[in-house]
Amino acid sequence: MGNHDIQKVAIVGAGIFGLSLAISLCKRGHNVTVFDQHQYDKTGYQPSDDNPQLVASVDHNKIFRASYGTKLHYQRLALESREAWIAINKELRDADDGADDLFVPCGMLRVQPTASLSLLEQETLANMTRDGLRDTQFVEGSSEDRERAAERGWTEKLLEFPIPDDSDRRSFEAVLDSLAGFTRCHRGCAYFHSVAEKAGVVFRFGPQQGCFDSLIEEQVNGGKRAVGLRTKDGQAHDADVVVIAAGSFSTQLLPDLSYHLESSAGSVATFKIDKADAQLWDKYSPEKFPVITWKSAPRGKDGRDTGSVYVLPRTPEGFVKIGYRGVKFTNFRPAPDGTPFTQDGKWSIPLPPSEFQSLPSFSADAIREFVAIFLPEFKDVPFYSTKLCWYTDSLDNSFLIDYVPTYADKSVFVCSGGSGHGAKFMPVLGEHAADVFENGDASTTPMRPFWRWREDVPRRNGLQEGPDGPRNIGEKTV
Ligand SMILES: Cc1cc2nc3c(=O)[nH]c(=O)nc-3n(C[C@H](O)[C@H](O)[C@H](O)COP(=O)(O)OP(=O)(O)OC[C@H]3O[C@@H](n4cnc5c(N)ncnc54)[C@H](O)[C@@H]3O)c2cc1C
Repeated sequence: MGNHDIQKVAIVGAGIFGLSLAISLCKRGHNVTVFDQHQYDKTGYQPSDDNPQLVASVDHNKIFRASYGTKLHYQRLALESREAWIAINKELRDADDGADDLFVPCGMLRVQPTASLSLLEQETLANMTRDGLRDTQFVEGSSEDRERAAERGWTEKLLEFPIPDDSDRRSFEAVLDSLAGFTRCHRGCAYFHSVAEKAGVVFRFGPQQGCFDSLIEEQVNGGKRAVGLRTKDGQAHDADVVVIAAGSFSTQLLPDLSYHLESSAGSVATFKIDKADAQLWDKYSPEKFPVITWKSAPRGKDGRDTGSVYVLPRTPEGFVKIGYRGVKFTNFRPAPDGTPFTQDGKWSIPLPPSEFQSLPSFSADAIREFVAIFLPEFKDVPFYSTKLCWYTDSLDNSFLIDYVPTYADKSVFVCSGGSGHGAKFMPVLGEHAADVFENGDASTTPMRPFWRWREDVPRRNGLQEGPDGPRNIGEKTV
């Protein structure tokens, strides 16, 4: 059973998840209003230079990859999205010859922890083989692959990095993924914002009239049903369905999501290249430099990796962004009374913006180690900026897109849980989510079983750790 007849939908959050769903619902005939506390408009999705990542979606760039280990469903969704990004690039270029691409297929070098292929890498290559894509991957240590890379013009990006202090003077094994690259995330948001407006989506932005304050509920048959939402300016907005798509703030807006979702921080640092420095400008351009990811250590026995660092080619403004995602830091704080799921009465939520400008030494050191190996020119250069950027982790790393069963009559829907890999799906996420919105269990999207409300699934993906876990930079239990 689904929601084919719904006319009035209020979506909270104009990030990637909210925008993408809004467009698809509007195209299906629903009457959609999107609320956001930020003052976005076509030019408003701007990461400021000094404060590049207040909202996960409003960022210079995010990695696009279709390599997903054993998760074939995400591999296929990523490839569907890749086609859509390429079509958007073409549309923009057809309209304006000089338009910047929103998706840049610059390739991604997956540098291994050692001189040989990791288990995850072997799984990824096996799945690429199964889907007929193996020839798009070039293993550095394979002469056959290197030849194919040369034929296809990828040799320049098959970079070699010597293992520091290796007595045999070996290099890290690496695989160049020619399907991968990055999306220009904030420009993507601006593009989809204008698509949404053209499709008829109404936007309400700003810290008063756009900011969600509370759900408006009524009692039905012993349960509760949402009939709209109230914004900070006190205005009531009636709706048949309220969609929570507020990223890492989602649990605070709707504590019913607290079992499924947790906010955690990724560490991000930037350098800035001056255009006058022609050698560096050229070397780190997307034309010459791939995305690089490196796991400094193999996965632990529990399957988690603790040493993952990545860098993207410089932006048109000259920013080189490096991210550390080996440890995503939690910030446990007392949860409000009545929160359905807490750990020692606490939950992890984003720090206030004033407190997330500096990095924990653990991640700053990991980034510095990475820089010394992969970006040697910046070894002794101070970071231009540092920031914690907030993920919305789900209990199993899959998104959470479904009706919230604690509300009757399918009156509340959640579209969140990006878990650090949602940005790449922007052009196609909404269609799959709208299928779930309209058709529930009868939807045809292969993502339905993965995105469903799933209280029966144990909390993993780090969500089992709680305030006493090693990642907590908030309040420990005393
Ligand atoms: C450090 C980091 C690195 C990442 N790297 C990648 C990557 O390389 N590749 C990739 O594909 N994905 C990546 N991701 C994931 C991707 O960025 C997210 O999945 C995606 O941006 C989530 O979008 P969203 O719309 O769910 O949330 P958000 O982008 O957080 O947007 C939520 C919106 O809700 C609004 N909001 C919040 N509270 C309220 C309120 N009370 N009232 C009104 N509006 C409100 C916010 O203002 C915001 O605009 C990364 C994420 C992080 C944090």
